[in-house]
Amino acid sequence: MSIQKISHIGIAVESLEKWIPYYRDTLGLSFLGKEFVASEKVQVAFFQIGESRLELLEPTDDSSPIAKHLQTRGEGFHHIAYEVDDITKSLSDLEQKGVSLIHKKPKRGAHQSQIAFLHPSSTGKILTELCQSQSREDLADAEKN
Ligand code: ZN
Repeated sequence: MSIQKISHIGIAVESLEKWIPYYRDTLGLSFLGKEFVASEKVQVAFFQIGESRLELLEPTDDSSPIAKHLQTRGEGFHHIAYEVDDITKSLSDLEQKGVSLIHKKPKRGAHQSQIAFLHPSSTGKILTELCQSQSREDLADAEKN
Protein backbone atom coordinates (compact mmCIF):
# COMPACT_ATOMS: atom_id res chain seq x y z
CA MET A 1 0.00 0.00 0.00
CA SER A 2 1.70 3.16 -1.16
CA ILE A 3 -0.16 6.44 -1.59
CA GLN A 4 1.70 8.67 -4.05
CA LYS A 5 -0.25 11.92 -3.84
CA ILE A 6 -3.76 13.38 -3.83
CA SER A 7 -4.98 12.45 -7.29
CA HIS A 8 -8.03 14.68 -7.15
CA ILE A 9 -10.87 16.06 -5.05
CA GLY A 10 -14.37 15.30 -6.29
CA ILE A 11 -17.13 17.94 -6.08
CA ALA A 12 -20.77 17.14 -6.85
CA VAL A 13 -22.60 19.74 -8.94
CA GLU A 14 -26.05 20.07 -10.49
CA SER A 15 -24.59 21.58 -13.64
CA LEU A 16 -21.06 21.62 -15.09
CA GLU A 17 -22.02 24.52 -17.32
CA LYS A 18 -22.92 26.59 -14.28
CA TRP A 19 -19.70 25.86 -12.34
CA ILE A 20 -16.94 25.52 -14.95
CA PRO A 21 -16.74 29.34 -15.33
CA TYR A 22 -16.17 29.78 -11.58
CA TYR A 23 -13.19 27.39 -11.48
CA ARG A 24 -11.78 28.34 -14.91
CA ASP A 25 -12.43 32.08 -15.04
CA THR A 26 -12.93 33.31 -11.47
CA LEU A 27 -10.27 31.11 -9.82
CA GLY A 28 -8.19 30.92 -13.00
CA LEU A 29 -7.51 27.19 -12.84
CA SER A 30 -6.32 25.29 -15.89
CA PHE A 31 -9.34 23.53 -17.44
CA LEU A 32 -8.38 20.08 -18.72
CA GLY A 33 -11.68 19.16 -20.38
CA LYS A 34 -14.78 17.04 -19.87
CA GLU A 35 -15.31 13.29 -20.00
CA PHE A 36 -18.27 10.93 -19.66
CA VAL A 37 -17.63 8.15 -17.12
CA ALA A 38 -20.10 5.38 -17.94
CA SER A 39 -19.44 3.32 -14.79
CA GLU A 40 -20.66 6.18 -12.53
CA LYS A 41 -23.14 7.75 -14.99
CA VAL A 42 -21.50 11.14 -14.65
CA GLN A 43 -20.10 13.84 -16.84
CA VAL A 44 -16.87 15.10 -15.25
CA ALA A 45 -14.78 18.23 -15.73
CA PHE A 46 -11.14 18.34 -14.60
CA PHE A 47 -8.99 21.26 -13.49
CA GLN A 48 -5.26 21.03 -12.76
CA ILE A 49 -3.89 22.37 -9.46
CA GLY A 50 -0.19 21.63 -9.11
CA GLU A 51 0.19 17.87 -9.26
CA SER A 52 -3.47 17.30 -8.30
CA ARG A 53 -6.82 17.99 -9.90
CA LEU A 54 -10.34 19.05 -9.07
CA GLU A 55 -13.05 16.82 -10.49
CA LEU A 56 -16.55 18.29 -10.89
CA LEU A 57 -19.20 15.59 -11.25
CA GLU A 58 -22.64 16.08 -12.80
CA PRO A 59 -25.01 13.10 -12.92
CA THR A 60 -26.35 12.08 -16.32
CA ASP A 61 -28.97 9.71 -14.91
CA ASP A 62 -31.12 9.56 -11.76
CA SER A 63 -29.50 6.21 -10.86
CA SER A 64 -26.02 7.80 -10.68
CA PRO A 65 -24.44 7.81 -7.20
CA ILE A 66 -23.93 11.54 -7.69
CA ALA A 67 -27.66 12.06 -8.28
CA LYS A 68 -28.35 10.38 -4.94
CA HIS A 69 -25.71 12.54 -3.24
CA LEU A 70 -27.29 15.71 -4.66
CA GLN A 71 -30.75 14.62 -3.50
CA THR A 72 -29.65 13.99 0.07
CA ARG A 73 -26.83 16.48 0.62
CA GLY A 74 -26.90 18.95 -2.25
CA GLU A 75 -23.90 20.32 -4.10
CA GLY A 76 -20.43 20.36 -2.60
CA PHE A 77 -17.53 18.16 -1.49
CA HIS A 78 -18.01 14.56 -2.60
CA HIS A 79 -14.77 12.55 -2.31
CA ILE A 80 -11.00 12.60 -2.01
CA ALA A 81 -8.95 10.40 -4.33
CA TYR A 82 -5.48 9.10 -3.52
CA GLU A 83 -3.13 8.00 -6.28
CA VAL A 84 -1.72 4.52 -5.62
CA ASP A 85 0.77 2.52 -7.65
CA ASP A 86 -1.04 -0.85 -7.36
CA ILE A 87 -4.77 -0.53 -6.71
CA THR A 88 -5.48 -4.27 -6.47
CA LYS A 89 -2.81 -4.74 -3.81
CA SER A 90 -3.91 -1.58 -1.98
CA LEU A 91 -7.50 -2.83 -1.79
CA SER A 92 -6.47 -6.21 -0.37
CA ASP A 93 -4.07 -4.55 2.10
CA LEU A 94 -6.82 -2.21 3.34
CA GLU A 95 -9.37 -5.00 3.58
CA GLN A 96 -6.92 -6.98 5.72
CA LYS A 97 -6.60 -3.93 7.96
CA GLY A 98 -10.38 -3.94 8.45
CA VAL A 99 -11.39 -1.17 6.05
CA SER A 100 -14.82 -1.65 4.42
CA LEU A 101 -14.65 -1.47 0.64
CA ILE A 102 -17.46 -0.28 -1.62
CA HIS A 103 -15.67 -1.89 -4.58
CA LYS A 104 -13.62 -5.02 -3.92
CA LYS A 105 -12.28 -4.90 -7.45
CA PRO A 106 -11.19 -1.80 -9.36
CA LYS A 107 -13.35 -0.41 -12.14
CA ARG A 108 -12.79 1.96 -15.00
CA GLY A 109 -12.59 5.66 -14.12
CA ALA A 110 -11.83 8.77 -16.15
CA HIS A 111 -8.70 8.93 -18.33
CA GLN A 112 -8.43 5.12 -18.52
CA SER A 113 -7.65 5.01 -14.80
CA GLN A 114 -8.68 2.23 -12.44
CA ILE A 115 -10.67 3.33 -9.40
CA ALA A 116 -12.32 1.88 -6.30
CA PHE A 117 -14.10 3.48 -3.37
CA LEU A 118 -13.64 2.83 0.36
CA HIS A 119 -16.70 2.96 2.57
CA PRO A 120 -17.12 6.19 4.59
CA SER A 121 -17.91 4.13 7.71
CA SER A 122 -14.21 3.17 7.78
CA THR A 123 -12.74 6.53 6.82
CA GLY A 124 -14.17 9.09 9.22
CA LYS A 125 -17.13 9.77 6.88
CA ILE A 126 -14.85 10.89 4.06
CA LEU A 127 -15.82 9.09 0.87
CA THR A 128 -12.40 7.93 -0.33
CA GLU A 129 -11.34 6.79 -3.79
CA LEU A 130 -8.19 4.94 -4.73
CA CYS A 131 -6.99 5.75 -8.22
CA GLN A 132 -4.34 4.08 -10.32
CA SER A 133 -3.39 5.94 -13.46
CA GLN A 134 -2.88 3.89 -16.54
CA SER A 135 0.79 2.91 -16.62
CA ARG A 136 3.09 3.72 -19.52
CA GLU A 137 3.28 0.01 -20.34
CA ASP A 138 -0.53 -0.19 -20.51
CA LEU A 139 -0.64 2.86 -22.76
CA ALA A 140 1.91 1.27 -25.06
CA ASP A 141 -0.18 -1.92 -25.14
CA ALA A 142 -3.35 0.07 -25.89
CA GLU A 143 -1.65 1.73 -28.84
CA LYS A 144 -0.68 -1.65 -30.25
CA ASN A 145 -4.24 -3.03 -29.98
ZN1 ZN B 1 -12.91 10.75 -8.39
